[in-house]
Amino acid sequence: MKSRPKGMPSEENFEFKEEELPNLQEGQLLLKSLYVSVDPYMRGRMSDAKSYVAPYNLNEPIAGGVVAEVVESRHEKYQRGAVVLGNLPWQTYSISDGKGLSPLDPDLGPLSYHLGILGMPGMTAYCGLLYIGEPKEGETVVVSGAAGAVGTVVGQIAKLKGCRVVGIAGSDDKTAYLKNELGFDEAINYKTTSNMREALAAACPDGVDVYFDNVGGEISDAVYSLLNKFARIAVCGQIALYNATSVPTGPRVEPILLKKSALMKGFIVSDYAARFPEAATEMVSWLKAGKLQYEEHIVEGFDQLPQAFFGLFRGENTGKLLVKVADF
Ligand code: NDP
Repeated sequence: MKSRPKGMPSEENFEFKEEELPNLQEGQLLLKSLYVSVDPYMRGRMSDAKSYVAPYNLNEPIAGGVVAEVVESRHEKYQRGAVVLGNLPWQTYSISDGKGLSPLDPDLGPLSYHLGILGMPGMTAYCGLLYIGEPKEGETVVVSGAAGAVGTVVGQIAKLKGCRVVGIAGSDDKTAYLKNELGFDEAINYKTTSNMREALAAACPDGVDVYFDNVGGEISDAVYSLLNKFARIAVCGQIALYNATSVPTGPRVEPILLKKSALMKGFIVSDYAARFPEAATEMVSWLKAGKLQYEEHIVEGFDQLPQAFFGLFRGENTGKLLVKVADF
């Protein structure tokens, strides 16, 4: 990262560098990046504002979820040819001392799934929806950012729980995908709908019991006005505001929460780390039983990383956006 973005990030904020890696020391492994994840939270880390994770440093690589192959090992736990998941730098190759790496089981699904449905975004969807949203059969669940990595999983789990599911996304292709492929009851294109509140009211004739918020901003303002008594709101993401250059303001939500006895809770997926094993077991069983569908938007080539990342903010992806760097 060469400079910190103001507003939407651009190529100017990045620089490609070529460096020789040193020889491996005892206890180290050489990793070849196979799949690199691009995620909205990275935008927050590019800024130096205080947050729940430290900012990226200037003139150092961005780091995030990477699936990598061990190509050389002087580490007792890892053999050459093993595949691992780690929080690793955006590099084609990197050296690790093994800390924070987890070996991947190829039987659980394709390797790339560990950056999506079987990884952080999948856990986010599962934990946020089930532990905060607590959807009950017959209730109405609205999810914004519905066609992305987290949103597609949220909507499908809500359907498995017997809910009416309404998704909000940014294109007609996405809304058609949500309804026709994933079984959402309704889907609204927020970019072509002039009155979101009216469109939502029509899609949610019985009001909204659970709102899984991936985007914030005006989309969420429209949802709040339709909350039912005892509604639950899982505040997962605010991507509509990540590139804002001034402090965003909006209608006050507290009077609505008060009148509706509604619960609004922000969360970071790691809050639920103790429950990941049970969540992962259920997700794998749903996936293997064909009860969950999963879409990936794979961009090829390490040099495409910045553009792939910008794609998140341009809504280019349906499903999980990631970059394939090398073959396994
Ligand atoms: P997605 O795969 O959903 O990609 C981002 C999507 O956001 C885009 O495809 C785009 O779809 C939509 N979007 C972009 N800009 C806007 C905007 N201005 N207004 C409305 N929608 C917009 O990403 P993820 O599934 O990885 O993440 C979804 C959200 O969840 C993010 O806000 C992320 O920060 C958050 N998150 C939170 C976690 C936590 O621990 N709390 C963990 C993981 C993710 P469209 O075409 O519909 O506009």
